[in-house]
Amino acid sequence: MPELPELEVVKEVLQRRVVGTRVQACEVLPPGGALVARDLTHRGLAEAVTGAEIQSVERRGKFLLFSLQSPSDSSLFLVVNPKLTGRLQLAVPGQKRLARTHVVFSLSSGAELRYVDQTRMGQLYLTRDLALVPDYTSLGPEPCSISLDEFRVRLKGYYGEIKGILTRGELVAGIGNAYADEILWAARIHPYRKRNRLTGDEIEHLYQAMQSTLQDAIAKVRAEMGEEIHREPRDFLAVHMKSGQPCPRCGTPISLIGANQRVTNFCRTCQPGGLIRGM
Ligand SMILES: [Zn+2]
Repeated sequence: MPELPELEVVKEVLQRRVVGTRVQACEVLPPGGALVARDLTHRGLAEAVTGAEIQSVERRGKFLLFSLQSPSDSSLFLVVNPKLTGRLQLAVPGQKRLARTHVVFSLSSGAELRYVDQTRMGQLYLTRDLALVPDYTSLGPEPCSISLDEFRVRLKGYYGEIKGILTRGELVAGIGNAYADEILWAARIHPYRKRNRLTGDEIEHLYQAMQSTLQDAIAKVRAEMGEEIHREPRDFLAVHMKSGQPCPRCGTPISLIGANQRVTNFCRTCQPGGLIRGM
């Protein structure tokens, strides 16, 4: 699942590669395409975007926003929420399409921007009004630009296990299952600790770990991803999906709770407590 660091780098690549280009054609591929592409303008996705210029690409939380301008529509947004398995890919025409390629934008640069999604859980929205995009307006601030004081104040509004609070997107935007594990490991906080049991010092450690973990990850993803924006380089992670491997800090085998997409990994030695849920 792409999270803030991957999408930040995808955004940077797209700013270089697609901003200023024009969409010459848009193909929505059945049977999955109609499920992932939600046209909130009711003009027809392909019809509305063909001829439009991509004016900017921005990231907000785990969403990517393309601002489009066409002769008939001066403010149109294409919003991508990749969720679990959605990926954007830059390709050249004729390059073999990956399985489950659902939307293909042909650009005036000669490149193709493709949307690929194995589970079709992700979504592309075309809209004039960002308030219509589900889960967009409830996003919290960006974790790398919030101040410690603001983080402390906002945190008070949330109850329950700290990992769940970090991943929900309302406290801060863009942190998912993988980077919540990484941040909590860096902060030495057990993922099941209750927010209202965290000390002032622990909240400060959490805040600092959030900033440093995300910034370090952006730099590492940037170095490894290149222009291959559909890839998700994560070999460098310390604990997430590293069950049984030695903790990079103390050597204790990394613990695992949960399964499938809701895996939690942590180090029992570095992140004590939480043996009884709620400690
Ligand atoms: Zn450890």
